[in-house]
Amino acid sequence: MNQRMYELGSKRSVIRELFEFGKKRAAEVGAENVYDFSLGNPSVNPPQIVEDTLIDLLRTEEPTQLHGYTSAQGDLSVRKAIADYIRKTHGVPSDPEFLYMTCGAAASLTITLSAVCNAGDEVITFKPYFTEYKVFTETAGAKLIGLVSDPETFQPDFEALEGAINEKTAAVLINSPNNPSGVVYSAATVQKLAEILRKASERLGKTIYLITDEPYRELVYGGVEVSYLTKYYKDTIVCYSYSKSLSLPGERIGYIFVNPDAKDARELYLAVCGAGRALGYVCAPSLFQKLIARCQGVTSDVSVYEGNRDLLAGALRKFGLTCVQPDGAFYLFVKVPDGDTDTFCERAKKYNLLLVPGEGFGCDGYVRIAYCVSRDMILRSLPAFEKLAKEY
Ligand code: PLP
Repeated sequence: MNQRMYELGSKRSVIRELFEFGKKRAAEVGAENVYDFSLGNPSVNPPQIVEDTLIDLLRTEEPTQLHGYTSAQGDLSVRKAIADYIRKTHGVPSDPEFLYMTCGAAASLTITLSAVCNAGDEVITFKPYFTEYKVFTETAGAKLIGLVSDPETFQPDFEALEGAINEKTAAVLINSPNNPSGVVYSAATVQKLAEILRKASERLGKTIYLITDEPYRELVYGGVEVSYLTKYYKDTIVCYSYSKSLSLPGERIGYIFVNPDAKDARELYLAVCGAGRALGYVCAPSLFQKLIARCQGVTSDVSVYEGNRDLLAGALRKFGLTCVQPDGAFYLFVKVPDGDTDTFCERAKKYNLLLVPGEGFGCDGYVRIAYCVSRDMILRSLPAFEKLAKEY
């Protein structure tokens, strides 16, 4: 048996434990009195066009075609639709021959990391980061290096980045809008990041890739812009997913886009195809590939999340709790007043508030609150948050 896999499978999951606790408390005090803020599952329905298109596809397409294998990199007409959308929306060069359809961002990341890393390489990311990055990076034979961010803004600390890059650095992995902080990287951040990577690649005589994990690209509020990274840094690989933008996380659909202007772009794309093959992905779900080809530019109603953010962030601030302003995604990363996260989470549980400790995101001393829940639950939970805050 593979010891690492055994350990991954048997390790206790904080979110699963919270889920079990929530079920137990719901039986005791009633489900309406338990406030589960632990899961990043979209709470807004997919747009109506999703249902309409699925029905139309099922009624009109030849079943063996609709449900059959597509080419490994994805159906060509689907990749054409996405390439057109990227070109028109972001004004960047795009090409179906550089798109690879995947089973969501998790698959996009595992495939991309396997495509760019060799054993012993390092992948740099910034804290706080999505918990699974460590698992994905280690599966690719590399080591994840989590660097500090500016604690006031959660924008990257560039001095730390310059100090961390070395000949083993294969890639820098970023996620904006960010899970768990909700922070969106500013254009100035992206420019500076690109400049550092260009200089370091030149100095080291190798290509350092920029991997951008973008499941929350469309989930932004107040007109905030999310820069398109291939415009700034040519050796960029975009890992995209429709899990959040179309509220389809269980359907497993996304893509990898290799910038056609990257150095050795063709070879890089073939390495992506090779990694997908080696990992046994075969092809992304055929029905959902065909669906998303017809839903380009469509997004679930993000105003619901924006309303939740305003309501909850506003209330928590009023109660004296603090968090960096989240401009996107659907999470608040709240500072634990005295830095003792375990006690804070235990006290929260006393009020039936289920919050995720920040340790798994590389930031002890914080908790993540996922506000992709009903507005009604947020309203009901506010007295519990107030009582929790009063303990500090
Ligand atoms: N990356 C980040 C930052 C996420 O938050 C998630 C899911 O929550 C993923 C990747 C995985 O997304 P998917 O469901 O598309 O695999």
